[in-house]
Amino acid sequence: MKIIRFKHKGKINYGWIYEQEVGLIEGELFNEYRRLETELQLDRISYLSPVDPGKIVCVARNYEEHAREHQVDVPEFPMIFLKPPSAVISNGEVIKIPPQSSQVEHEAELAVVIGRTCKWIEPEEANQHIFGYTIANDVTARDLQYKDGQWTRAKGFDTFCPLGPWMETELDPSDLLISCRVNGELRQMSSTKEMIFPIPQLIAYISTIMTLYPGDVILTGTPAGVGVLESGDEVEISIEGIGLLKNAVK
Ligand code: ZN
Repeated sequence: MKIIRFKHKGKINYGWIYEQEVGLIEGELFNEYRRLETELQLDRISYLSPVDPGKIVCVARNYEEHAREHQVDVPEFPMIFLKPPSAVISNGEVIKIPPQSSQVEHEAELAVVIGRTCKWIEPEEANQHIFGYTIANDVTARDLQYKDGQWTRAKGFDTFCPLGPWMETELDPSDLLISCRVNGELRQMSSTKEMIFPIPQLIAYISTIMTLYPGDVILTGTPAGVGVLESGDEVEISIEGIGLLKNAVK
């Protein structure tokens, strides 16, 4: 099922998508909820990010080809970092290039949304803690990433975490095509089966460091082909079984 978050009559709602229509969701999405009949047109919805995460945990170098393009070794255990929730924007919102950087790049990534609190779980238990999946763009100021050595600034600017357009709750993430186009030109193309550390292992590992709560988001790393974004560009990331995340750059 596809679940969208949007503004309706001045309120923030979750809805479920059926073909080109949306029905409201009543109750608590991560606990008990009820789906109401579809009544709204999807093409008239004003999108919000599909979730409002408490934290965004990102995995670096989780595709071998991408590690190679930056001349760094493939890690022996997952390398993680954080993006602030204030970086999140929705499908259709504008990525803003900050004046401090002259090399802002796109990173197409599959994002996992946590559904149940987890701490010190085993990889075999991970699936029951996943709520669903969405698409992320881990926008990065590459020049500042190299300059600073640590990544908080490079990864943390406002608008540097487009998420969306919605969540898909029924999906096998083990072999999904993932691609990124800039102004229609193909930049990144791979499959999630190329991940070095699969999703259950990532969740288990992260849960030994910090408790994961419902709504937290994990960005699972980007394949090779990252490249520069310029003002006026339009970046589109598509993941098989989820959809298309589209943002302009200014
Ligand atoms: Zn990334």
